[in-house]
Amino acid sequence: METYDAVVIGAGQAGLSASYHLKRRGLSHVVLDADDAPGGAWQHRWDSLSMQDVHGIAALPDADLLGTPDGRANTVVPAYFGDYERAHDLRVLRPVRVDAVTDEGDLLVVHSGERTWTTRTIVNATGTWTQPHLPYYPGAADFAGEQLHTVSYPGPAHFAGRRVVVVGGGASAVQLLGEIAPIAADSLWVTRREPVWRTDEFNPDAGRAAVALVEERVRRGLPPASVVSVTGLALREQERAAERLGAYVRHPMFTRIEPDGVRMPDGGLWPADVILWATGFRPAVNHLAPLHLRSEHGGIQLDGTTAVADPRVQLVGYGPSASTIGANRAGRVAARGVATWLAQASSASS
Ligand code: FAD
Repeated sequence: METYDAVVIGAGQAGLSASYHLKRRGLSHVVLDADDAPGGAWQHRWDSLSMQDVHGIAALPDADLLGTPDGRANTVVPAYFGDYERAHDLRVLRPVRVDAVTDEGDLLVVHSGERTWTTRTIVNATGTWTQPHLPYYPGAADFAGEQLHTVSYPGPAHFAGRRVVVVGGGASAVQLLGEIAPIAADSLWVTRREPVWRTDEFNPDAGRAAVALVEERVRRGLPPASVVSVTGLALREQERAAERLGAYVRHPMFTRIEPDGVRMPDGGLWPADVILWATGFRPAVNHLAPLHLRSEHGGIQLDGTTAVADPRVQLVGYGPSASTIGANRAGRVAARGVATWLAQASSASS
């Protein structure tokens, strides 16, 4: 059986960038992707997310910018990724869901059911979409209404005439409230912390500073925070109708969930039909558990994109690189990390 220089796990922006740069360096590799088709998490985004709604998608390496064509993000971006895989002849096997990566002496073995791939290094690019985060709140199991997470957002029509609680202080909560509030019977926005609004235009320096903060967390082995949690929120034209209805008046978290609604800290009950948890995602890294990469602080400590606990492992699209531009850069850095490891390993053995 072939021993690869690298196995890339995941074919979103980060995995494709890594594969492109590995190929340029002449390093043997294969990309394993759990989805049925190209597009990474973009193919699963909700239908109402148009290309005008997305914040901007960085061009894949050595490809034209996608721009903001008409159409839904969940079809336009996957078509762009599919074209890219073909144009650069990247070897992506799908659907292959990796269950585990094990340490077999000098080599790593990647497992998917009965199938295995043997490799000197891995580049993990599995994103976060498959790990929606649902915080625990007392009473949740007894709620008589409907609860859903952003990951299964069915579009605004589903909420027409209903009383909707939206939980979460990130960009998704702001965007979904913008769609839901104008047609819901009423909406209530609750967040754990006071949301941070950006008062000025987004400036690249502030963006870089925000990414540096997340980078610092990951360097120390802490769980990564989302980049937007440090860049701040802003309302766009499409959210103004909801704003006029008062949808962005933030309320503190409820103290418990009851069958008919949520109990607020002032003791009042806000009757609710639906609770929409826009509470984010966590890195999809369970398959790496056998490698014991987690630090005592609960995150995977990285030096650049290299796992400190095992330098054969690169993580891309993780923490500071969890944006399309960050994923692009991380793919390049990871390919360099793989090459460095292979050079060191071969000089140590000669
Ligand atoms: P993904 O695109 O999630 O790809 C991961 C791939 O790994 C998937 O194909 C999946 O099938 C595969 N995978 C997962 N687990 C396994 C496994 N065990 N085995 C094999 N394969 C596996 N960023 C921007 O820069 N601009 C934006 O406008 C923007 N909008 C966003 C809107 C939403 C709603 C969200 C949630 C995020 C947005 N982001 C945006 C963030 C951005 O989408 C991501 O940071 C980036 O696209 C992630 O790319 P990725 O390659 O890391 O992961």
